[in-house]
Amino acid sequence: MTHPRDLRTELISLRVILTKLHAKHCAAEPVPAVQWRAFRTWFAANLEPPICSAVLADGSVCGFAGTSAEMHLDHMVPIERGGAMLDPRNVQWRCRACHGKKTATQDGGFGNES
Ligand SMILES: [Zn+2]
Repeated sequence: MTHPRDLRTELISLRVILTKLHAKHCAAEPVPAVQWRAFRTWFAANLEPPICSAVLADGSVCGFAGTSAEMHLDHMVPIERGGAMLDPRNVQWRCRACHGKKTATQDGGFGNES
């Protein structure tokens, strides 16, 4: 019969392995497109209508309104810098023009590594 203390030690080491595997797996796995689309739809319907909240050069807010499919749901903290993909606190609506401007200036430009 296994001593309870041995069993406990085994359980702890198994948990360590599982935690490491989980972290590795989750970091490597991108959010599926279907899940991202569902999040966008849910965000638009329940939290914020798809209206561009970008502040323009003159200090006014863009305010361009479109459908969730036309608009970009922009990550305030980019995913590659550790921002959460599906966190409603990390996203904001941008129209195509404002999102393009942000990507070109703040995120290192189209096709560039940021
Ligand atoms: Zn805009």
